[in-house]
Amino acid sequence: MSALLPMPRLRPALARAERGDGATSPDSAGRRELADAYGRVATDLRVSLTDRCNLRCTYCMPAEGLPWLARDELLSDAETIRLVEIGVRLLGIGTVRLTGGEPLLRRGLEQLVADIAALRPRPVIALTTNGIGLATRAAALAEAGLDRINISLDTLDRNTFKQLSRRDRLADVLAGVSAARAAGLRPVKINTVLMRGINDREAPALLHWAMAEGVQLRFIEQMPLDAQHAWQRSEMVTADEIRDRLSTTVELVEDEADARRRGSAPAELFRVGGTEHRVGIIASVTRPFCGACDRVRLTADGQIRNCLFARTESDLRTSLRSGASDEEIADQWVVAVRGKRAGHGIDDPSFLQPSRPMSAIGG
Ligand code: SAM
Repeated sequence: MSALLPMPRLRPALARAERGDGATSPDSAGRRELADAYGRVATDLRVSLTDRCNLRCTYCMPAEGLPWLARDELLSDAETIRLVEIGVRLLGIGTVRLTGGEPLLRRGLEQLVADIAALRPRPVIALTTNGIGLATRAAALAEAGLDRINISLDTLDRNTFKQLSRRDRLADVLAGVSAARAAGLRPVKINTVLMRGINDREAPALLHWAMAEGVQLRFIEQMPLDAQHAWQRSEMVTADEIRDRLSTTVELVEDEADARRRGSAPAELFRVGGTEHRVGIIASVTRPFCGACDRVRLTADGQIRNCLFARTESDLRTSLRSGASDEEIADQWVVAVRGKRAGHGIDDPSFLQPSRPMSAIGG
C-alpha cells in the first residue's frame, strides 16, 4: 500500500464514546460520527441512483452493456431519501453527491434533489453526470436545490467521442455544459479520463477549451474498475505524464494556498501561469489520497461501500425492508464504516479488482 497522504480532516466529535465493537455511542440526539479505525470521518455520501448508462465508454463497460439491476432490487425514491436522511440527521453527512450509472436516467431526479434539499441540516448537493439531457434539465435541477455539478467529457472531437463512448453524443454533452453554467451551477467541473493513443494528445486543447468556457477541468487516472477487467497499469496515462503534456503549452504553478486548502479533495490543483484558472489532476493510482478520504458510498441497490475498491458491502436495503428503525440502520452504517480499510490497495500484490464495475458502484 502506498504511503497515506495527507492527514484526514477531523471534524469536531459528535460522539466518540467507544463501544465494545469499536463503534461510537450516540449523543442525546442520537447523532454519531461515521469514524473509521484510522481517524477518518466520512461526511461525503456518494449515492448511486441507477447502474444504467446511455454511453458505453470503452474503459467502463462492454459495447453490449451489463446485466442491469432488476427494478425491485433498486431502492425506491422513498427508500433512498430515508437512508440519506439518516445519514444527514444522525451521522454527520454534509455533502450528498448523486451519481450512477447515469443519474439523469433516474426518473424524478429533480424531486429527489428537492427532497434532499429539504433535509436539515441542509447538505450540499452535487451531481456527477455525462451531461446528456442536461441542456433541458439544468435549470430545473438548480431550482430544485442542486449546488454543484461534475460533467464527464473526454474529448472535443466528435469521432473520438464516438470511438470512446460508442455513441454520437458530443453535441449533447457540450450543450449540457453550457446549460449548467447558464443555470448558475458553480463550480462546473469537467472530469476527463485520458486513454493512451486515443485522446491523450488532446489534454492541452481540453484545458484551453475549459479556460475559455470558465469551467474547471480535472484529469482522472484510469482505474481498474472496468467491467471487462482489461485495465493495465502500463497502459494508464499517469498524473506525471498529464502534467508533462500540459506543460508543453502552459506553465503549471503549484500554489501553496491550494495545497493548504486541499483537505479531502481528490484533485491536486495547479494554477495556469499568468491566469487565475486552476486545473486538477486526480492521481488515484500513482499518488492515492486514501489518508484524507471522507467518502462513503450507497449503491443503487442499498449497499454501503467504504471505497470504490472495497470487497465487502453492508446491506442496508435488507434492514430497511425488514422494518429496522432509523437508529438500527444508523448503527449498522456506523459499524460498516468502522471497518474501512486504510487504502485502496491497488499497489498490494494481493490486490483484486472489485467484482462490481464503476458503473454499478457509483463513480
Ligand atoms: N455517468 C456519470 C458520468 O459519466 O459522470 C456518472 C458515473 S461515471 C462512472 C463517473 C466518472 O467515472 C466519469 O467521469 C467516468 O469517466 C469515470 N470513470 C469510469 N470508469 C473509470 C475508470 N475505470 N477509471 C477512472 N474513471 C472512470
